[in-house]
Formats: sequence, C-alpha cells, structure tokens
Amino acid sequence: MYWNVEKETMDRPSLAKLQIELLRRTVERAARSPYYQKVFQKEGLSPASIRTLDDLRRFSFITKDTLREQYPYGFLATPKDEIVRLHSSSGTTGRPTVVFHTANDINEWTELLARCMYMVGVRKHDVFQNMMGYGLFTGGLGFHYGGERIGALVIPAGAGNTKRQIMLMTEFHTTVIHIIPSYALHFIKTLEEMKIDPKRDLHLRIAFLGAEPHSEATRKRIEEGLGINGYNSYGLSEMCGPGVAFECQEKQGMHVWEDGYILEVIDPKTREPVKDGDEGELVFTSLTREGMPLLRYCTRDVAVVYPEPCACGRTHRKISRIKGRTDDMMIVKGVNMYPIQIEKTLMAISGVGSNFQIILDTKEDNDHMIVKVEVLNDLFTGNLQQLNDLKKRITNELHTELLVTPEVELVEPNALPRSEGKAVRVIDKRDKWGD
Ligand code: ADP
Ligand code: ZN
Repeated sequence: MYWNVEKETMDRPSLAKLQIELLRRTVERAARSPYYQKVFQKEGLSPASIRTLDDLRRFSFITKDTLREQYPYGFLATPKDEIVRLHSSSGTTGRPTVVFHTANDINEWTELLARCMYMVGVRKHDVFQNMMGYGLFTGGLGFHYGGERIGALVIPAGAGNTKRQIMLMTEFHTTVIHIIPSYALHFIKTLEEMKIDPKRDLHLRIAFLGAEPHSEATRKRIEEGLGINGYNSYGLSEMCGPGVAFECQEKQGMHVWEDGYILEVIDPKTREPVKDGDEGELVFTSLTREGMPLLRYCTRDVAVVYPEPCACGRTHRKISRIKGRTDDMMIVKGVNMYPIQIEKTLMAISGVGSNFQIILDTKEDNDHMIVKVEVLNDLFTGNLQQLNDLKKRITNELHTELLVTPEVELVEPNALPRSEGKAVRVIDKRDKWGD
C-alpha cells in the first residue's frame, strides 16, 4: 500500500525488530550468490550471525569496484529465470554497474516510490510528466511505475526536447514533474524565452528534484520559477534507484525508508561509524531485495543524519541534502571544497543565469580556478558597469564561501555546454603528476 501509516510511523524498537528479521532473510538470500557464498564461507558468516543490528558490522563493506569486479553475475542471488529486469548506474564515475531485479523486487521498489509520491500529495487525478531519462537509468522507469501505482496519468516524456515537454505540459495539463535540477533551471529559462508564464499558462504544482546534488538556493529558484513545491529525491541504482530517501512536506531533510534499507554513516577514511549529526559517507544494506541483495554498500555520497524526530510524524530517520560524492571533492590550493558550495553561492545571486562551469588548471605551478558563469540575458545586453559589479560580487561571495579566490568569467546565456542527464560541473586540467 502506498499510504502505509503503520509502516511509516512505526516506533523505533519495532522498526529495529523488523530490520533484524529482514536482514537475516537478506543474508540467507545473499548466500546464494557466487560472491557472498565465497565471502561468507571465508569469514564464517551466516544468517545466524545476525542477533542484533550491530552484528551487521561483522560483514565487509562493498563498493562500486566490488560490483565491477563481479560483473556480470557475481552478485546474482536467484536463478536467472527469476530475473525480470536489469538496470544500470549512469556511469558518472566510471564503468556503470549492473543490477538485477525479480518481479518482487520491482514490486517493492514501486511501492516505495508510490509511498514517496503520495507523501507529498500526488493523487490519482494528477498528470505526472516524467522528464527523466528512461532505459537503463533508474530515474525514468522507477518513478514511472510509482506514478502508475498511485493511478496518476503518467506521461513518459523522457529527458530533453524542451519544446516538446512544454507542448505536452500545456496540452495535457501536467501537474507533477520529475526533473534533474540543473535541467530544471534551463527549462525555466526556455519558458521565459518563449514568454510562457508557468503560473498563468501551466498547471504545475509539484516537482521531484533528484539524481544530482543541488542546493537549497537552487530549489528556491525552481520553486519560484515554476510556482510549485519542489521535493528532494535521493536514490542510487545499486539500491534500486530513486525511492531510497525522500523529502516529506516539511522540506527539512529526506526520510530514509528504513523498512527497505539499513543506513550506516561512516568516516570515509577510517571506515568507522560517525555520530548522528556528523558528516559522513552513506552506506546502505538492502532489506527486501531478492535478485541482488547487497550488504553495506558504500555510496561515496556525503551527508548528515538528522537525529531529531520529524514534525510530520514519520519515524524513519532523515538525512540532509547530499553534499556531493567523496570523488567530487576538489582540493584547490590545499583547500577542500565541493562543487555544490559554488552552486549554492551562485544560485543565491540575482543576475546569475542557469548554468556555470568550474575549470581547474595549473598556472605557474599553482592551482588556478576559473568559474564561468552564465548571466541573465538583459544583463548581458545592459551596461558594462552592472556586469562589472556582478563579477565583483560573485568573486567576493565565492571567496567567503571557499576561502580561495577564483577567477570569475561572465558569459552569455547558453554559452556553456549542458547535459540532458546529470550536470558535468568540473573540468580538471591540472597536471596530476606535478611535473
Ligand atoms: P551513478 O552512480 O553512475 O551516477 P546512478 O544513476 O545510480 O549512477 O546515480 C546515483 C547517484 O546519483 C547517487 O549515488 C548520488 O551520487 C547521486 N544522486 C541521486 N539523487 C541525488 C540527490 N537527490 N542529491 C544528490 N545526489 C543525488
Ligand atoms: Zn517528515
């Protein structure tokens, strides 16, 4: 059921009891895969090893590399006959990983997505335009099935083709969209260029924003630009896809569905757990998966757990926005930073357009950082003084945020390359070998 009050508001001890039971079953299933069979044997582990939730720590971590090494069938835990679908990750950080689903896996995943969508107000009468890539990428089909489960009218629009998206929206009175945040900013700009006022001419009320890190400032721009409510949606193909963590109407962090996944947060260097409220890498264990159960998968995504209960009454713990992946962290002149810090700063400055790019280079043996920023059209055609002031303001605010002074370059709207999928923000041309 997509409105399972009992499950969503389960008290913590009952939730822990459920997790232990599901975890034992997961270990039992995992033991049938070639990879875990070998590992469990070597490490002397079995379902009986799980007595409390802490016993999960007796199992080893796995990473994207472990999945790549076991490609294609090392983690398959059912006969191939039972598998009804294959998905893969986007390949943002290297060769994509493959995930197998049984019919029941698809069903559980769909239930979670329906739960997420229903939670923020999607109903049967809604028209849901899914503006995400379909195919192997999980963002498309995951939400598609969730929307259908609720009974909404689902338009499988797919990514890109902005004019067609607008045509569909206008003609079929789309009320809910699922969109990549960087593309949403571009989409708003195109509406402006076409003189379409979303509040007057469209019927949108909800957007799901996911698949890439984005800041509160970007959410605000999207909400204001479209006159809607935007909700953060987090997931990864290794844990099915979207539907792992989702914002409720409080918009104060994303609930991790703990009846589907066990969340741990670790220090990426020491691999030890961090305290609630401390930043760390998210590690997930799937609890209902049959085709490809995964234990302690290290996501490299960095976030914080909010220990406080949520005003909405749901008991599943919440995580903050994802700050980025550990691989996204840049070290510039010895200072650690994430692209989202630059995004957050830029998107809060009026006059800044919808796109930017970070270029890292070496200049006289030193790191050199250039931030190219698209500005709004009327500014670009306006007077030079205004542009100069904007450039100064951006440079100062970036310095305050990053403690490094980048070279800021203002460019015309649409001057920077854009991706239909996840945005590529950083181009690192630095000489990695230092010679
Ligand atoms: P890939 O890991 O190759 O990008 P996926 O398509 O499985 O492939 O994407 C999952 C990843 O996308 C997550 O691990 C995370 O880094 C990022 N991601 C997904 N949703 C969000 C979100 N709401 N905020 C920030 N990052 C997100
Ligand atoms: Zn809540």
